[in-house]
Amino acid sequence: MTVIGIKFSKLFYFVFGFTLLMFASAGDLSAENKHMIRVNLSSKGFESFDLMISGRFECRDGNSGKLLWKDADLPLTGVKGGETGIWLGSKSFVTNYLEIRLRPDETFSMNNKKYRGDIAIYVVSKNKILVVNHIGLEDYIKGVLVGEMPKRWPENALRAQAIASRTYALYQKGIHQDELYDLTADIYSQVYGGFGNETWISNRIVKETKGVVLVYKNTLIPAFFHSTCGGKTEYGNMVWKKIDVPCLKSVTCNFCSDAPNYDWIFNLKLEDLQNKIKDIFNDSSEIVISVDVKNKTSSGRVKQLNITTSQGQYVMDAVDFRLRVSPRMIKSTRFDLSTHRDQLVFHGQGWGHGVGFCQWGAKGLAEKKLKTDEILLFYYSGSKLVKLQ
Ligand SMILES: [Zn+2]
Repeated sequence: MTVIGIKFSKLFYFVFGFTLLMFASAGDLSAENKHMIRVNLSSKGFESFDLMISGRFECRDGNSGKLLWKDADLPLTGVKGGETGIWLGSKSFVTNYLEIRLRPDETFSMNNKKYRGDIAIYVVSKNKILVVNHIGLEDYIKGVLVGEMPKRWPENALRAQAIASRTYALYQKGIHQDELYDLTADIYSQVYGGFGNETWISNRIVKETKGVVLVYKNTLIPAFFHSTCGGKTEYGNMVWKKIDVPCLKSVTCNFCSDAPNYDWIFNLKLEDLQNKIKDIFNDSSEIVISVDVKNKTSSGRVKQLNITTSQGQYVMDAVDFRLRVSPRMIKSTRFDLSTHRDQLVFHGQGWGHGVGFCQWGAKGLAEKKLKTDEILLFYYSGSKLVKLQ
């Protein structure tokens, strides 16, 4: 792939066999100060939110950088925005972009959740504001790790997750440079709970892997990961056509069979399917009669489905079909499909898109005493672990 994103001119390569701990103590490479991450905390936008700040802070016009107000210890305050500006309680600021900067190590609370870093508030429509957390890379990973993997899992799996999450975040930063944020705080990017997600164990794991990322030919890889592959991971370009890196190839994973969603069944009434896909039909009055698998990818996931209606036949990509019906109910595209009376019966394996690192598989590999780098290179074969300078 022509890898979009960041290239590093000076990279520190791992010599396999070194422990991550040794690298972590090998000097301050200040990765977190160079790499700021912008996380959208407000999904599609808020009309208002509650903000509280402990410690000193400054409010600046994000467009001009001009200082508008500085103070300390903001009590619980309602924040809203509109065409004429942004309000913090009764205080108004004539701007469509307000930056609230905190001192290092101080926190703010948004709707009762605590975060590190700074706050950017953008007016994005008449009554809607976007709230974006600007935070250093390492502090961001501290807020992600426990959101993505239980803190009691084996430490080598947690280290591997920290490295995959860090790589994924920097990759996303590279491709969203012209937008207001790099990542969302939910499963559509990676689950970020901020300061409230930090634990003593997970913060130690982040520190031990500080600045370590995965590259292929000196370029960050799109380090996708998922909960459970169900026996085999998927080629990256089978899910995202533009993602074609050799290290995102399908591998057989016999290590995630303890996962709660290794096997699943979902029944879907044809009439319930009707509304979710009717916009693909030529005529909105068409009735779905049957659905069957047209073909599968070489890794065994459904690639396309045949949909037969009262008036014709359509072909739909399984990835699109899953997202439209419900990615929580059709947990993956690794399924067999049968029909029982008026219902489609999906019998599947695994949860998630199946590309890259399988989290439950990483747990299984760590329990078999594989090292952090061995786990990562199993799923991202051909990539290299390097440390940001
Ligand atoms: Zn797996």
